Amino acid sequence: MAKEQKLNGTVIVTYRCNARCSMCNRYKAPSKQDEEISLETIKKLPKMYFTNITGGEPFIRTDLKDIVRELYKKSDRIVISTNGFFTNRIVDLAKEFPQIGIRISIEGLEQTNNEIRGLDNGYQRGYNTLKKLREMGMKDVGFGMTVQDKNAPDLVPLYNISNEMGMEFATASLHNSFYFVEAKNIIKDRPMVAKNFENLINELLKSNSPKKWFRAYFNHGLINYIYGQKRLLPCDMSFDTFFIDPYGDVMPCNGTKDKEVMGNLNTQSWDELWSSPEAEMVRKKVRHCDRDCWMIGSVSPAMYKYIWTPAWWVFTHKLKSLFGGKYSMYENKIVRDLRDGKVTKEELDKCSTCDMCAVVNNGLSEASKAQLVGKTGEEIVDADIAAQMKG
Ligand code: SF4
Ligand code: SF4
Repeated sequence: MAKEQKLNGTVIVTYRCNARCSMCNRYKAPSKQDEEISLETIKKLPKMYFTNITGGEPFIRTDLKDIVRELYKKSDRIVISTNGFFTNRIVDLAKEFPQIGIRISIEGLEQTNNEIRGLDNGYQRGYNTLKKLREMGMKDVGFGMTVQDKNAPDLVPLYNISNEMGMEFATASLHNSFYFVEAKNIIKDRPMVAKNFENLINELLKSNSPKKWFRAYFNHGLINYIYGQKRLLPCDMSFDTFFIDPYGDVMPCNGTKDKEVMGNLNTQSWDELWSSPEAEMVRKKVRHCDRDCWMIGSVSPAMYKYIWTPAWWVFTHKLKSLFGGKYSMYENKIVRDLRDGKVTKEELDKCSTCDMCAVVNNGLSEASKAQLVGKTGEEIVDADIAAQMKG
């Protein structure tokens, strides 16, 4: 009998969020609570080798424990991405599931983080949550940082803090998509940001951890991405990877301009949805997608699948570092071309997904849109949280 194929899945349990990040407007476009993905729908998901639970802010959902319990029946490994605000809820969940992974987004050192994230005391809360989890003996905990002009100088200092705490350090950069409800994100000073990535890459290559050497490759890919170049590895989202949103809509990824729907798991079975003509249409679009995202969700499966490309890069660069050599951002032709005036900043801006005139589609259902008439997303979510805290 053929071995059952396990997938890589991301479950967006809510679009509600209590943060006010400068690079994401999701907090302005929350999902309506009673429409959010139910346990019945989660039970219909396929077997997965990896599941990422994300939002919005997933810990806004008071039934997150039930969701995790259900997902552990079908997933080998689960990582939750959170802004770290609900410390008690995170700690409480970690007590029941000590094997779970937790990634807390921290966008720089204290002042920078609080400015970008817009959460009062956000840095201290995130940092304290991470510390508590570590003290509890949890192994799979770490920082996540979205690198941009404002926080790039904090990249290596924050990596050093994560290292001192013995934690994972995941990076990303600015993306535009329906998921982030944003089309205007763009890196302004590419050489400065690339220089900070270069410093991080050299720190990672210096370490004794093969995992960190591969992270160095990922960050090398981020330099390539912020210069608007073709992805270093093919994108195979929707082939063995999927995202499911709070409405049960299954999508290839979170990087598309508009929401691309393969089917709906509230109304369909997984097999019916996964082999539907709609799913095939989406796969064809993915094959021709020119957005060239470089986010861990789409790159990590590609790094496993096309292992020889990153492995060769790691081998040559680790060897070089052992002999005192260093990685240079100028290994990327496009970085040299900008330095040498062969291409202009404006030309590179055009290669990005930034579109100052775009009307952003937020992917909300009609009912979720309707609750925004006369009220802002922030007001709705603040009232939600206040009610939860009372109850
Ligand atoms: S990036 Fe995350 S934490 Fe920030 S507003 Fe968007 S969903 Fe919320
Ligand atoms: S490059 Fe891949 S991850 Fe990005 S939008 Fe296209 S299909 Fe999605």
